[in-house]
Amino acid sequence: MSHTKLLIIGSGVAGYTAAIYAGRANLQPTLLEGLQPGGQLTITTEVENFPGFPDGVDANELMDNIRRQAERFGTKMLPNACTKVDLDVRPFRVTLDGGEEWTADSIIIATGASAKYLGLGDEQKYMGRGVSACATCDGFFYRKKVVAVVGGGDTACEEASYLAGIASKVYLIVRKPFLRASKIMQERIFSNEKIEVLFETNTIGLYGENGVEGAHLIYRKGESDERRYDLPIDGFFLAIGHHPNSELFSPWLKTNEEGYIITEGNTPCTSIPGVFAAGDVADAKYRQAVIAAGSGAKAAMEAEKYLAQ
Ligand code: NDP
Repeated sequence: MSHTKLLIIGSGVAGYTAAIYAGRANLQPTLLEGLQPGGQLTITTEVENFPGFPDGVDANELMDNIRRQAERFGTKMLPNACTKVDLDVRPFRVTLDGGEEWTADSIIIATGASAKYLGLGDEQKYMGRGVSACATCDGFFYRKKVVAVVGGGDTACEEASYLAGIASKVYLIVRKPFLRASKIMQERIFSNEKIEVLFETNTIGLYGENGVEGAHLIYRKGESDERRYDLPIDGFFLAIGHHPNSELFSPWLKTNEEGYIITEGNTPCTSIPGVFAAGDVADAKYRQAVIAAGSGAKAAMEAEKYLAQ
């Protein structure tokens, strides 16, 4: 059994930033990098709205830099995920995916969020054979092919724009009669000749012999002009938001109805003293890299105060 003063769980912007602050405070934190080191940004392309980069920055380069900055101040990085926690005991107990056990005087939860799926059986059936929740990971396979992206938010628009640079045609399937995305993203969508937006449309299934060959769609469901039709496509990309990775902690911590960890007021403090939450796992509203960075810093500062007591 190993022990650390501060265990940071998660390696997105929030986790690494917490590590920079905790390292500079001489807390010698241990950080569990989990299954997706670098977090959600590593599956996007360019980041245009992180301060300090007037021409934008490659998302993987940004994460690599933040990680190196954390290492510079003495963070011990472990390539493991956490499979079990016990927040009833002091020090807290954590089990890693290899079975190793750790104890920690304080914990920062920065486990982020994961992509949501529609819940269709066909998504599972065609997973990796035409269904994806990451255009930048899998877009490459759809050169000069026809794809569809589901969703009307910034992520969907960003993914559709990215795919339009690879595929011959991109359909954006939006359930409402409008896009939720920011104005600048909407403009990019509407000015791109390769992208066609299918408003008020839901997907009810997928079809194909060995992989996706098309989607069963329904237009204006329940209305007098409801129409069901099949749309031939080669790839089906989900971009309908994320759910917080809080399941491991929810027996102990207060979460809202969507599972986001509830913290006290404008702080990263959870309902258990010594346990803090930072980044998207505790942010149902803003979910921005720069905000995750700020909340990671706050969590480390609170952990330092807690450990000093
Ligand atoms: P959002 O929650 O903003 O949007 C999700 C989209 O998916 C909505 O259009 C929603 O429809 C749709 N949707 C949800 N569930 C379903 C369903 N079951 N069937 C069909 N459609 C569905 O998530 P995003 O991931 O787009 O963005 C999250 C946050 O990250 C936002 O704050 C966004 O601004 C930010 N972001 C910023 C970027 C940037 O600034 N460059 C890039 C990417 C994200 P409906 O509108 O009907 O609810």
